[in-house]
Amino acid sequence: MKRSNHDHPHKDPVCGMEVSHLTAIDVLEHQGKTYYFCAHTCKEAFETEPGKYIHHHRQHGIKPQ
Ligand SMILES: [Zn+2]
Repeated sequence: MKRSNHDHPHKDPVCGMEVSHLTAIDVLEHQGKTYYFCAHTCKEAFETEPGKYIHHHRQHGIKPQ
């Protein structure tokens, strides 16, 4: 049985792993967006240098699969 309809995965911006709000170890709100992390270390890395992991205005040309 698959239960993927109500919870689509989020990407851990630090390591690129897919996490859902159910499996995320840590969550952080940054500039109105919620980020999910697979580990505390990923969240800490993001908090330290969010700009390193967020790609501003570079979404075009990227196809999510
Ligand atoms: Zn991670």
